[in-house]
Amino acid sequence: MTTDTDLDDLLARLPKPSPRDILAEIEAARHADEARPPVRTIIPEPELPPLWPHPDSGFVRFSCALGCGWKHEESTYADDQEPISVPLSASTEEISRIISERAEHRAATANARVEAAIREHFTQEHPDQEPPERTVR
Ligand SMILES: [Zn+2]
Repeated sequence: MTTDTDLDDLLARLPKPSPRDILAEIEAARHADEARPPVRTIIPEPELPPLWPHPDSGFVRFSCALGCGWKHEESTYADDQEPISVPLSASTEEISRIISERAEHRAATANARVEAAIREHFTQEHPDQEPPERTVR
């Protein structure tokens, strides 16, 4: 009960945003999203894995855009093996930055790996064609 009381006290002390503030924050997020430039990629739309305990859980698949049946698999379980290191003195902002940078690095590494697999597949199986691009936001 003490913990809940402490939490209630903390929550009561947080500033309460007005509906106008909340709307402004939503509008700002919407404008920021619209302002992001579109990105062209050869990575096709991923096929998301079924949930555990299905034997295929954890494997995201990227099918050849030409429909030849080839697929590249990425294991989401193998994706996060490196330990994360956060200084004990890190502030909330520093922890957030460290986690964000780690996620961006992992995403860039995974994208590069998928693109390399797709280019290799096109070199071997569709040598006369460039992998088709699509636009993502
Ligand atoms: Zn193919």
